[in-house]
Amino acid sequence: SASVAQVINPATGEQGKSYPLTSLNDALQSADRAHAVQREWRKASFADRAAVIGKVCELLRERADDFAALMTQEMGKTLTDGRAEVEKCAAHCDWFAKNAERYLADQPIIVDGAGEVFVTFNPLGVVLVVMPWNFPFWQVIRFAAPALMAGNGAVLKHASNVPGCALAIEQLLKDAGLPDGLFHTLLLPSKEIAKLIESPHIAAVTLTGSVAAGKSVAAAAGRVLKKCVLELGGSDAYLILDDADAVAAAKVAATARMVNGGQSCIAGKRFIVVEPLKQRFEEAMVEAMRGYAMGDPADEATRLGPMQSVGARDEVHEQVEKSIAKGARLLLGGEVPDRPGAWYPATVLTDVAEGQPAHDEEIFGPVAAIIAAKDEADAIRIANDSEFGLGSGVLTGDIDRGRRIARDLLDAGMSFVNENVRSDPRMPFGGVKHSGYGRECADYGIREFVNIKTVLVK
Ligand code: NDP
Repeated sequence: SASVAQVINPATGEQGKSYPLTSLNDALQSADRAHAVQREWRKASFADRAAVIGKVCELLRERADDFAALMTQEMGKTLTDGRAEVEKCAAHCDWFAKNAERYLADQPIIVDGAGEVFVTFNPLGVVLVVMPWNFPFWQVIRFAAPALMAGNGAVLKHASNVPGCALAIEQLLKDAGLPDGLFHTLLLPSKEIAKLIESPHIAAVTLTGSVAAGKSVAAAAGRVLKKCVLELGGSDAYLILDDADAVAAAKVAATARMVNGGQSCIAGKRFIVVEPLKQRFEEAMVEAMRGYAMGDPADEATRLGPMQSVGARDEVHEQVEKSIAKGARLLLGGEVPDRPGAWYPATVLTDVAEGQPAHDEEIFGPVAAIIAAKDEADAIRIANDSEFGLGSGVLTGDIDRGRRIARDLLDAGMSFVNENVRSDPRMPFGGVKHSGYGRECADYGIREFVNIKTVLVK
């Protein structure tokens, strides 16, 4: 029914727990309460805030097995990936507990004749956080650790298929000693989001998810002139240049593609290989992708679990079939297994070209698209010929060449040479074009939800 969030186990198709949804009225009251508590929290010292976020770090480590199991049940992540995700959240909390004060320290400015001038960073208030299911803990903690350290509060609207994770995060923060009401989880249907954004007690909004959801939230925020940070999709391109080692390149490429079963915004999706290396790379890529056999996500050895839902799986399969109908060649996978649940095998397509979904769209599943390029310039042109601009990669035997292309020529928020793109609390994370705007992590991330205030004292 429409009044509950129903969990469905993607590995089996079986129904799990259900949770009552939050009404818009309750959501508005949560925003009011968070606002009132934030007025006090903003006065807390960095040391006091760090004690709470440091405790979050500790509790994450204590509860890692439970949280990993919850993710497996709700969105199919392998237990191994789930534990790694929780550890990443813990390290992120530790980093911001220890470094927020440094990132937000007052910055003196010399202005001749003006007296004392400095920049200070005040918190903005309560941020509405709309998050996706693919990294149910990481996406929220990535935002929350810096935002709370900066003195903000938050209300979370998580994806509707991970209500248990959403509530577990609220409990985690409470147990760590965060003032009651500063952070609320709302199981709010997304159609109510625009009205919540209008609340005078919501200062800003951030969304990680699809382009469609991003546009809708940005439009609602725009109508009431509220700050917005968007981390949307990507169709990350990796250039495989003529001087690359095909086997080593394929290893990086497959790792990039198969992050979280292929369901990541920064998963490598397009592998653009120059002609002389094409056949060798295809063979190496098939070999590398074959290493991701489907299996029970609760089994430690499993490298590829189910996708998040049968609907998402069917969408990916349709993109694969349409690409083949328009000239792509299937080298591996591409068949829906005959069993219940959201299963899809590691798949490799080659001869991918313009007009095919594998070329033009983001594929949010375990499907690698190989695209041939004439030379380096052609490869760069193809990489940039995308509505997205999140991550990108260059695989080459010449690091000076790689650095030049990464630094100057790729239209993406992140460009990695001979390594798959990943997020890290110490490195700014975000995109350009339809991949969104604003940054998370590092100094740039923590300064998104602050008032950059100039103070002059004469
Ligand atoms: P969505 O963008 O639909 O979901 C992300 C979050 O946004 C969820 O909390 C969702 O809530 C909410 N939402 C959806 N529509 C609106 C709206 N109109 N207004 C406000 N909030 C909204 O992602 P999907 O799960 O449907 O995935 C679809 C595609 O999104 C993927 O194929 C991929 O391209 C992209 N994506 C990107 C991610 C990333 O990390 N950047 C992560 C996940 C998806 P609810 O669940 O209740 O609908």
